[in-house]
Amino acid sequence: MVVLGRINYRWYALCIMTEEQKYVYEWIDDLPTFVPDWSKELPAMYQSLNASWFENALPPLSETFVCEFQDMPRESAGIYIGANHAKQLSRNGVTVRVGIRINSKLQCLKDHVKIALLHEMIHVRGFTHNAGEADFQAVIAALWKAGAYHKLL
Ligand SMILES: [Zn+2]
Repeated sequence: MVVLGRINYRWYALCIMTEEQKYVYEWIDDLPTFVPDWSKELPAMYQSLNASWFENALPPLSETFVCEFQDMPRESAGIYIGANHAKQLSRNGVTVRVGIRINSKLQCLKDHVKIALLHEMIHVRGFTHNAGEADFQAVIAALWKAGAYHKLL
């Protein structure tokens, strides 16, 4: 995957924008931005959400249970890789670790990282979309009611 640096992306983006979009882009680009140090922030976010909304029932982060950003070829915001899936994906001496992967594209959208992380943490807790979609939605509704999405949505 080609990763464009900020300067290159800005140049590219400005080339394909309408004049109106350029004015909006330049205005936003001049605003001060806070880019989290995700190497610390993502584990801290996981631990905080685990404590606040899952009663610390989810596994602590370790070498065998990770929560990381990852480039993704699709528009998925994140994915939870359980033990069976990790075993299936592991091959050629490469071990795919159990845990959560968040789409790297979200790194500039902190609130969206939190929303995606909450979603994947519900999967870690054992709720799935297939047969268990109603239960999955019930957990989201309960989290919403309890305030987990306050200021996020
Ligand atoms: Zn899901």
